[in-house]
Amino acid sequence: KVTVLGSLNADTIMHIERLPKQGETMAMYDATTAPGGKGANQAIAAARMEAKTTFVGAIGDDQNGQMLLDAMIHDNVDITNIKKRDNIGTGSAFIMLEKDGSNTILIHGGANQSLSIEDVKSATDAIINCDILVAQFETPLAVTLKAFEIAKQNGVFTILNPAPAKTNIQPELLHLTDLIVPNETEAETISGIPVTDEASMVANALKFRQLGVPNLIITVGARGAYYSTVNGAGFVPAFKVKAIDTTAAGDTFIGTLASQLELDLSNIVDAVRFSNRASSITVQGAGALPSIPKLTQVKAAFGE
Ligand code: ADP
Repeated sequence: KVTVLGSLNADTIMHIERLPKQGETMAMYDATTAPGGKGANQAIAAARMEAKTTFVGAIGDDQNGQMLLDAMIHDNVDITNIKKRDNIGTGSAFIMLEKDGSNTILIHGGANQSLSIEDVKSATDAIINCDILVAQFETPLAVTLKAFEIAKQNGVFTILNPAPAKTNIQPELLHLTDLIVPNETEAETISGIPVTDEASMVANALKFRQLGVPNLIITVGARGAYYSTVNGAGFVPAFKVKAIDTTAAGDTFIGTLASQLELDLSNIVDAVRFSNRASSITVQGAGALPSIPKLTQVKAAFGE
């Protein structure tokens, strides 16, 4: 059982030739809005891997909020603990996608930023009745801290995906984290150690342990992922595929990992390999949610 505390965003992808100049008015080729947000993507990934998944978050009382609820319901994510605000809109992300594939993103936290400690208290059941609690950095950190406190007091395993990269993280939050899963940039932002070769990853693991996090997985894009846990460390290479859109690669990795991981981390290598496989499917499809695979697809990719 997985509970995800996190963000729900309406992603508007604006397809453009190039970024407009200051003061310029420009036409787009196309604009489409779809459900997204790190929290939503991770929960849906976990649910597609057939984990019983519950979400803790907030939306506005608007069309975008309804779109997100529909997406969660469609993938069997429990929405009982998604709060609906009447004074603030659903979070949104505006993605300017240029013809050459580069993207520039503006985010409005909206209802995600309104998530409160009271909301977490009222979601206590969802937190204490799961095996793994997952959170990111698109909702207020003080709220995640409260949720992790409740989780740890009740023997729930906590996974922190420190994304998007942030400095000034409360040391207590790291002390309440069982497993942290950053990408290269996010790891360096916290540890101060650039992620390059495997030695730098070992150094990162040491630093994170000093910061109070016993277990670490760094995802390194097309290279794969490095893990370092209390039971051992190693590198698990990615699967070689033709990537067309890496949106939600990291989110697929996290959601899949949460669905597969044994709490004693005895299957960490298999869980990381399985998560690499799931995200390698995500990068071969366009968009966030449409490309996140189901359990059967990941198994089929392994030839099972
Ligand atoms: P984020 O999207 O958060 O930056 P990464 O880029 O590290 O995260 O990607 C997460 C995981 O997705 C990687 O560990 C890897 O398993 C998979 N992945 C990402 N890009 C590729 C790629 N080009 N080919 C195959 N797998 C990929």
